[in-house]
Amino acid sequence: MENHNVFAGAFVDRGGDRRKDPEWLNEAVVSKEARFVPVWKERCLVGGDPLHAVRLKRADIETFIGDHNVIFLGLFRNQPVFAIAIDADEQPLEAFGSFEGLRFLGTRLPLDEANLVAHARALVLWHESQSFCAICGSPALPDAGGNMRRCSNSDCSRGIFPRTDPAVIVLVHDGERCLLGRQASWPKDRYSTIAGFVEPGESLEDAVRREVYEETNVRVGAVHYHSSQPWPFPSALMLGFIAEATTREITLNDRELEDAQWFTREQLRSKFPKLPFRISIARRLVDHWILLGED
Ligand SMILES: [Zn+2]
Repeated sequence: MENHNVFAGAFVDRGGDRRKDPEWLNEAVVSKEARFVPVWKERCLVGGDPLHAVRLKRADIETFIGDHNVIFLGLFRNQPVFAIAIDADEQPLEAFGSFEGLRFLGTRLPLDEANLVAHARALVLWHESQSFCAICGSPALPDAGGNMRRCSNSDCSRGIFPRTDPAVIVLVHDGERCLLGRQASWPKDRYSTIAGFVEPGESLEDAVRREVYEETNVRVGAVHYHSSQPWPFPSALMLGFIAEATTREITLNDRELEDAQWFTREQLRSKFPKLPFRISIARRLVDHWILLGED
């Protein structure tokens, strides 16, 4: 089994001190070691066979660099690496490869490059939604190498930080069977673990118990943390759990799911149900639970 969930892994040294050092950043961004990860229409640039994330040199990208569209990500393979947001109107960089969506790239790129492009895309999308200060309405500009923004009104100067939305995702089981559900919009026969966003004032365990109850009416006892996965569509962090059911009767209380069922390990190895996508933490939770039964 992989050590990391896809998109996770601390492959970029985020350089917490360097991002606060404008002099270092100004030198790094024009250095010959600098590499740029372009993001265009929410997609990232890839090329080659096998497929790799394209990291461009300054000379390749010079004409696309504007006043506020370059974001310091950190050091990747010992080189300073920057995300660059490219205007949707452009039709750029065809000589270097093609722009592809992150769900596809998660299945194809090496783990370190999947982590890099997810990081780049998440920050670019966040910046695009944060042009103004929510308190005073003044323009907000990138700060700390693009890892935050700051209100340009000197009476306010509010710091604005990238948002991450925690969501719980949980494999509920009773020892012999596990609880999976499906939404009406999903491909035929696909079932997955229960998931939902954490609400204000909730612990993660509270959110697990509430979501499972709301969606299936099943009550949950012990909740055990498994692992987490950045899910930048656009800004979720999936927190994965294995939880023990204390009741079994299913009612689709909030109708978020079209169906939910209990499945044995044997069923999970068969043609029905179809399991979650390979790159998802949901699949990793299911695979983990299947293996627990093979002692
Ligand atoms: Zn302000």
